Amino acid sequence: MKLTDPVRTLKGVGTKNESYLEHMGIRTIKELICYFPRTYITYEPAVGLSEVEPDRKQAVLVTLRKSLSQIPGGRVPKLTVTVEEEGRRLQCLWFHMPYLKKSLHPGTNYVFYGKIREEKGKYMMDQPEVYTPEKYRELCQHIQPVYSLTEGVGNRLMVRLMQQVFETCEKFEDYLPGAILKRYQLWDWDEAIRQIHFPTSANELGMARKRLAFDEFFLFALAIRRMKKSNTAVPNSFPILHFSPSERFIADLPYKLTSAQLRTWEEIKEDFKGIGTMNRLIQGDVGSGKTVIAQLALLTVAEEGYQGCLMAPTEVLARQHFESFEKVFSKWDIRCLLLTGSMTAKEKREAYTRIENHQVDIVIGTHALIQDKVQFAQLALVVTDEQHRFGVHQREYLASKGVSPHVLVMSATPIPRTLALILYGDLDISVIDEMPASRKPIKNCVVGTDYRPAAYRFIEKQIRGGRQAYIICPMVEESEWMELENVVDYTERLKTIFPASIWVEMLHGKMSGEEKRQIMEAFGRNEIQVLVSTTVIEVGIDVPNATVMMIENAERFGLAQLHQLRGRVGRGKEQSYCIFIQCSKSETARKRLEILNHSNDGFYIASEDLKLRGPGDLFGLRQSGLMDFQIGDVYQDGDVLQMAGDCAAAWEDQVTGALAKRLSEYMSDENLSVIL
Ligand code: ADP
Ligand code: MG
Repeated sequence: MKLTDPVRTLKGVGTKNESYLEHMGIRTIKELICYFPRTYITYEPAVGLSEVEPDRKQAVLVTLRKSLSQIPGGRVPKLTVTVEEEGRRLQCLWFHMPYLKKSLHPGTNYVFYGKIREEKGKYMMDQPEVYTPEKYRELCQHIQPVYSLTEGVGNRLMVRLMQQVFETCEKFEDYLPGAILKRYQLWDWDEAIRQIHFPTSANELGMARKRLAFDEFFLFALAIRRMKKSNTAVPNSFPILHFSPSERFIADLPYKLTSAQLRTWEEIKEDFKGIGTMNRLIQGDVGSGKTVIAQLALLTVAEEGYQGCLMAPTEVLARQHFESFEKVFSKWDIRCLLLTGSMTAKEKREAYTRIENHQVDIVIGTHALIQDKVQFAQLALVVTDEQHRFGVHQREYLASKGVSPHVLVMSATPIPRTLALILYGDLDISVIDEMPASRKPIKNCVVGTDYRPAAYRFIEKQIRGGRQAYIICPMVEESEWMELENVVDYTERLKTIFPASIWVEMLHGKMSGEEKRQIMEAFGRNEIQVLVSTTVIEVGIDVPNATVMMIENAERFGLAQLHQLRGRVGRGKEQSYCIFIQCSKSETARKRLEILNHSNDGFYIASEDLKLRGPGDLFGLRQSGLMDFQIGDVYQDGDVLQMAGDCAAAWEDQVTGALAKRLSEYMSDENLSVIL
């Protein structure tokens, strides 16, 4: 068996499984074994009913006294049974599993594994996994991999396929030179790839992760260094020499730019005038005022007679930018155009024509705008806002059309400078490390669900004062699996709580682009006072009149994400507030939220979050989710990233043999369009 063989060659993969696997991006044996577990479970020995505790995943050893019974009604088939022992009762519920009724037999012992919740004094377990006691004992001896799955592919299939490959294959070749392995105390690839799937202990898993994270970071760092070299060689095709429009623009602003904003603008001006093409990252915390810098740059380019574009990660954000840019630029006779995926084919065609014929100066849209059939007449500047990194492939794409525009990337990702230098090494970095002086720090509180009535009264008072509020829920709709707040029901509930004069509306990702647009516009005009939303509003939304952010199930979100959400308020002159509603009693959750409670500083929050999790947290792979690495986490594996960066610097001129092959494979894949 070779790594390049198709998965079809494995036992258990027919045409059906083959196509399911393909959906997961798995076509070859190599892609299969490089599909790492999402997390791991260690099973603890099963306990008796008298020892269970609510709110934890546990294995309970039970004796079944009767058959499962069907619960009538409802959309989905439900089975239930109550087990009892020394007066303790546990009710179990299964959805969508009618066949269980026949396969579980009264008078037999089973282990039920699942999370126990307490409801009105009763213990309940939803959708328990069922094992025989023998099978469960076997499970307890190993750390079990858990894969991200799609329809048709179960965890058991993945485990079986992995086992098959590892049993059949001898030793896999390594592509890293032995000297590197020795220098950085890394495992070889064969060992690491086997242990990442079936670790023998938490320690071994740690070593496997270290090696594989190193690989990712190392290849990335090498590629970035290559790009840096080829970038600096690109001459400035669009030199810009006139800056009087930008001076007038700055003088016209209703506020004074901060010195950090001015410094950043000076750096961009130098790039514009320079001999090479600009490749610059603007790093600045949420609310530091990055947008106005983008406007300055785009205005300058347009006034010079060129075109520019701005890419945003979501349609909602693209529209918002479009509207504010149009307002600002209308005085300047600069023509703006919005281009998004939800436009009709006809609208898109018209847009393409106008772009091609230079009938528009600034195009604002989602990522699609540079990949589609868009041909600019004279594209001199590409700005990307929040998250989407303008990767090497897009750059190559533009270069293939014979242009190399200036590139400006804006990001709120808080990372330490040493790491930024490795990850963004191909870009020059400007840091906006200062908030506008007019800004009042946001007041925070972390409270339980019993605080809700007080929160609603507070929101009502704010609205009477002319302000607006956001309320965030983790789910769109009700789910049978999770008891989390959802946007649809919450909105209905709020409508009965607030007086009719207060308009409550919802916003979520399942709505059409047009619906979202109308709602955001109405919220922008203060026709809607309370917006109940999922995290679709997380990035970039700017409605300075909104002063309250209330987050339900705050414990469900990552700290970086909560910080972004909070950044939606505190953008105007008024005092703003953030209310974190904690719906679980967990002590760690409370500690994490306390960090946000005490600080509004993104860098500080990220580093505290890391400390709290500690490097020992091996099972929470890639927690920060800040970059699109498969296994490495920029914060958690900061030390590995540093090693990989050093190693790339030392080895960049000695890339030969298997490593060279691997690097060129890497650079030709999608890897470098990573999302930051
Ligand atoms: P972000 O950096 O998060 O993208 P924005 O660019 O959206 O932040 O700016 C947040 C708000 O601050 C906007 O309403 C913007 O008009 C305002 N703003 C930007 N710069 C300043 C400044 N120097 N003084 C006062 N307000 C500013
Ligand atoms: Mg922004």
